Amino acid sequence: MLGSGGARGLRLPAVNGIEGPPSDEGVPDWIAGLGLPGLVDLHTHFLPERVLRKVWDYFDLAGTHYGIEWPIRYRFDEPTRLGVLESLGVRAFAPLVYPHKPGMAEWLNRWALEFGRTTVGAVPTATMYPEPEAADYVAAALDAGARCFKVHVQVGGFDPRDPLLERPWQLLAASGVPVVVHCGHGPLRGEFTGLDVFAEVLERHPGLVTVLAHAGMPEYGRALELARDHPGVYLDTTMVGVAFSERFAPLPSDWAARLLPVADRVVLGSDFPNIPYPYAEQLAAVAGWAGSDERLGIPFLRAVLHDTPARLLGCG
Ligand SMILES: [Zn+2]
Repeated sequence: MLGSGGARGLRLPAVNGIEGPPSDEGVPDWIAGLGLPGLVDLHTHFLPERVLRKVWDYFDLAGTHYGIEWPIRYRFDEPTRLGVLESLGVRAFAPLVYPHKPGMAEWLNRWALEFGRTTVGAVPTATMYPEPEAADYVAAALDAGARCFKVHVQVGGFDPRDPLLERPWQLLAASGVPVVVHCGHGPLRGEFTGLDVFAEVLERHPGLVTVLAHAGMPEYGRALELARDHPGVYLDTTMVGVAFSERFAPLPSDWAARLLPVADRVVLGSDFPNIPYPYAEQLAAVAGWAGSDERLGIPFLRAVLHDTPARLLGCG
């Protein structure tokens, strides 16, 4: 056990006796200590192997793209990656896919729906892109049992207010299926990123169950405002508060206190496997928030790591 608490490389102190897991190996015991049956991770990525290789090639050039090195920690073949999740005690996860160009979402959906149906722990997911076919394939994915959608505004380079997405947003709002939306400026700004742009989608579709990926990084305050104003808006923890992200998108110092009004709408996300640090660091970051405000504490931790994402994914 590390005296300072948290995973290797973390600066988080142990507060109120709440400490993160010391390493990935320590995660299962740590989860059991919280009385949880496992973790539910609402934000992971699985892709057809050759597409994933291309994504990893992109991260290899992160120094050029992001101005920061991004060595992928869990760069293994698919069975090994699934084994890592299992060994971490992740009992359910959303394997998210997203297109970067037209004509791609529909076949990604076919792959992701099948992967979710046939992979232990995974739920069927889908995605969309502004294109004439979007309404039809979103409806088809919902009929086929998609339990989570991903919309990536920066990678896709599209406007989430595009009229071609109007019907798809309506369908998603009516379905109650959560949509993980990467619409923040971090780590890269896009032509249509920014929470104010996405706020207009929320105004038009107030029933939408939205999970703001990366808690809106770096617009954390705006993400909290959107959650306050829209009861269907959640925040995911993906890469939030870990040492890696604190270097370019630091959390406000009063983050834990500001989570209080939305404490039941924060869900575990990790970006596994595409992260440049151990999975345990994400858990330690969340534990740090739980420990730094006694009004959050263990109940918050249990909600974030399991209960709330399990409810959203329908795998209670
Ligand atoms: Zn992601």
